[in-house]
Amino acid sequence: MGKVALAVCAHPDDLEFFCGGSTIAMARDGWDVFLAIATDGDRGAHDLAVSRESLAAQRREESRRAGQTLGLSGIVFLGKEDGELYLDPSLRSDLTRVYRKVQPDRLITFDPWRRYELHPDHRAIGFAALDARLAARLPLYYADQLRDGLRVCTVREILLFNTDEPDCYVDITGTFDAKLSALAEHRSQWESIWDDTARSLRQEAERAGRASGHVMAEAFKRIFVPMGPVSADWDLEEEGC
Ligand SMILES: [Zn+2]
Repeated sequence: MGKVALAVCAHPDDLEFFCGGSTIAMARDGWDVFLAIATDGDRGAHDLAVSRESLAAQRREESRRAGQTLGLSGIVFLGKEDGELYLDPSLRSDLTRVYRKVQPDRLITFDPWRRYELHPDHRAIGFAALDARLAARLPLYYADQLRDGLRVCTVREILLFNTDEPDCYVDITGTFDAKLSALAEHRSQWESIWDDTARSLRQEAERAGRASGHVMAEAFKRIFVPMGPVSADWDLEEEGC
């Protein structure tokens, strides 16, 4: 059976920006990669004349197009308010439901402990995603979801992006150009500053590459969570970065 990854992000373009190259590499390796986007990013404009409703619709469409380039198996839009993500029961419950539906082997999200992360949504979604991982495996959390036919879910591997303590690098030498193509679909955000954005992403990928022996890479903090008795054939090295 194929492996399943679930990325949990705050905004429509987070995945492409922070780890689009790794996402494409996983999809090409046969993973089913799903994406949960907490908000529609409907405050992501500098023009007061822009309506939040129309921006939300535009950004969902941009995500769908980018998702095709990334090779995603599906996108879940949670529809939370942009800029107002909090570590509250509603967000955790919604994420728990997604985990129980998707049954991911690997969770990908923001490192909520990154120092000096200034975007509150980025901090909040990282904590919420990690807390939902615990809730998803215990049946007395949100038991009504199980009565609806969902199953508990145990995620054993977590990759945190936007981290300042990386210990896991994914080679994106062959997927960097496709990452840029996916990010470019988010025209509402990047079109006016595209050249600078592409240049700085290239520099960042090359910096991570130098740290890991690749031409280009994306960096993560990896957490592996053994659950129950560890199988004798569970090869930690093979499963590592
Ligand atoms: Zn964001």
